[in-house]
Amino acid sequence: MKAVVIVSGGMDSVTLLYYVASMYRDVLALSFDYGQRHRRELECAAFHAKLLGVPHRVAALSIDGLAGSALTDATVAVPHGHYEAETMRKTVVPGRNAVMLSTAWAIGAAEGADAIAAGVHAGDHHIYPDCRPEFIRALESALTLGTRDHAAPTLHIEAPFLHVTKAEILGMGFVLGIDYSHTWTCYEGGALACGLCGACQERRGAFQSIGRDDPLRYASAA
Ligand SMILES: [Zn+2]
Repeated sequence: MKAVVIVSGGMDSVTLLYYVASMYRDVLALSFDYGQRHRRELECAAFHAKLLGVPHRVAALSIDGLAGSALTDATVAVPHGHYEAETMRKTVVPGRNAVMLSTAWAIGAAEGADAIAAGVHAGDHHIYPDCRPEFIRALESALTLGTRDHAAPTLHIEAPFLHVTKAEILGMGFVLGIDYSHTWTCYEGGALACGLCGACQERRGAFQSIGRDDPLRYASAA
């Protein structure tokens, strides 16, 4: 049984990598270089793949439409605040998850994989439409049709966190013994995580809600 796991290097996808590696005999960790502002996440993904002894591949994605999002466009400031705020829409890279899942599927089909694993979780649904369950299932149907006879008939999208919160993911990760000091969540690429962007706030909230200390150091204590 082979799985291609999409690993950004953040806490959700790193937890996913360990979780899937505990279930599948053969795992390929797949990261995307989509012109993100910094390399921190990719380094974290490589660190955990090496620790688990699974191959790590970085696929380059070039999408013209990626300009204009704070995650990829250095001229757009990373907004501070919670995900609920309207300003956080600046962190949306439209269709990013759709493109990543489709690319991972193509690689998985060529590799004879049984599953593509993605770390989308319940907290993403509100702001990112391509992280919603109805989209994931519809894309899986389309991709299955599009690779008929050219992929393992078992190939499917495994999204075990689809209805799980970030705090619950973290709780699973501690059970799996994950060292979260080697995960990068912050949208900024500073020496320390900023502590103020939506991703940092969501991460800190998850650690707080399960009563664990975040091993990462932050530039802002707020
Ligand atoms: Zn941050």
